[in-house]
Amino acid sequence: MSLLHDLVEAVAAGSVEVVDLTAPLSGDTPILRLPEPFGNTWRFQTEEISRYDERGPGWYWNNFRSGEHTGTHFDAPIHWVTGRDGEDVAQVPARKLIAPAVVLDRSAQTVDNPGYLLEIDDVKAWEAEHGPLPAGGWLLYRTGWDARGDDDDAYLNAGNTPGISPECAKWLATETPIAGLGVETVGTDAGAAHSFDPPFPCHSFLLGAGKYGLTQLRNLDRLPVTGAVVIAGPLPIVRGSGSPARVLALVER
Ligand code: MN
Repeated sequence: MSLLHDLVEAVAAGSVEVVDLTAPLSGDTPILRLPEPFGNTWRFQTEEISRYDERGPGWYWNNFRSGEHTGTHFDAPIHWVTGRDGEDVAQVPARKLIAPAVVLDRSAQTVDNPGYLLEIDDVKAWEAEHGPLPAGGWLLYRTGWDARGDDDDAYLNAGNTPGISPECAKWLATETPIAGLGVETVGTDAGAAHSFDPPFPCHSFLLGAGKYGLTQLRNLDRLPVTGAVVIAGPLPIVRGSGSPARVLALVER
């Protein structure tokens, strides 16, 4: 039997579970809000073309408009000025969109400290227990924030949301073999990261190093600490800085 045959059999039988890490995409999906004078992303929005009516008697379809960074989405290196000479989202090699993932859970720490920042020592302690971060894989940073994902105000929390310290962001970008960082929050950086040095260090260091971001992930609590495989599917928007993405995880049960 071939590897792929075994895989589809295992998915059908449930011994490999497909966990959807994607938030539903609608006009209610929370989006980042930047202060004046910065531009802002669009909410996701649909416009009906026809629905079994005179505009199209046998078919239903919509147009949609969306920001590249709306909902569960993929950050490509050119999203940030530090990565401006790097890949756009259409240039990300397809083989890099299927990758191992590990979960680092700090959801307990954010309960009393929503602005909690992950430090290098936290990751090193995790590695001492679970092994090295995966080469070419994702570090999925669980904060419990997905539980707030249906409530704009609770999710954005007036800019007080968890993230990663500048030192740790730089270390992850330059000293670890990960391909990218996945988070549950609206962006890879903490809510207060505009005031960090440098500002938005996850974006600055990781994208500047040619690495990727995944945001607004859900169901990380259903993943094992190690051993999951993530399939991330951003649209190949030519010269795009990112894209809404369907993100799935394969988990052996
Ligand atoms: Mn983004």
